[in-house]
Amino acid sequence: MLAPPCSTFSPARDRTSVIRTLEHPWGLVGISIKDQIKVDIGNRCIQAAIKLITQFDHNGIPWILENPHSSKIWFIAELIQLSNNSNTHTVITDFCQFGTPWRKRTRFLCGNIDKQDTERINKQCTGCGVCSKSGSKHFQLAGSNKQGIPWTRTAMPYPAKLCHGLAHALTAHKHY
Ligand SMILES: [Zn+2]
Repeated sequence: MLAPPCSTFSPARDRTSVIRTLEHPWGLVGISIKDQIKVDIGNRCIQAAIKLITQFDHNGIPWILENPHSSKIWFIAELIQLSNNSNTHTVITDFCQFGTPWRKRTRFLCGNIDKQDTERINKQCTGCGVCSKSGSKHFQLAGSNKQGIPWTRTAMPYPAKLCHGLAHALTAHKHY
């Protein structure tokens, strides 16, 4: 299960300053030193994830790479190439379908896993204006709570049911 930090790849990050674009997901040239350090850390995590995936593929080991649906990592050429391989498929999941007040659309690139074994995590909100699961409006993950903790951080943990679905997908080949 690979979930490289998405902070520097988030379109929301553009409000402060643009450090990556869809054309340049590895980072723009000429950004501040402070931003460059953040970009470098983000890049090294992705490079490590790609290295691990190469090894997993070599040995037929199941893997899942996770990032927000809107993350710029999905524009990295190596990951686009991976997503086109015959041993991978993409699953898009809305966290609200697992009981959270927020939708949090998330993309899972799955490798060496049977499509049927990711059905448990393949759940999208079909609501129009209101959540198809709760019947209420989605909670917007903007700003911070009363304690000053950003809502995006509060929303970071996966819902338990989603964890079970991910664990199933990664271990299903051992169950048969
Ligand atoms: Zn929903």
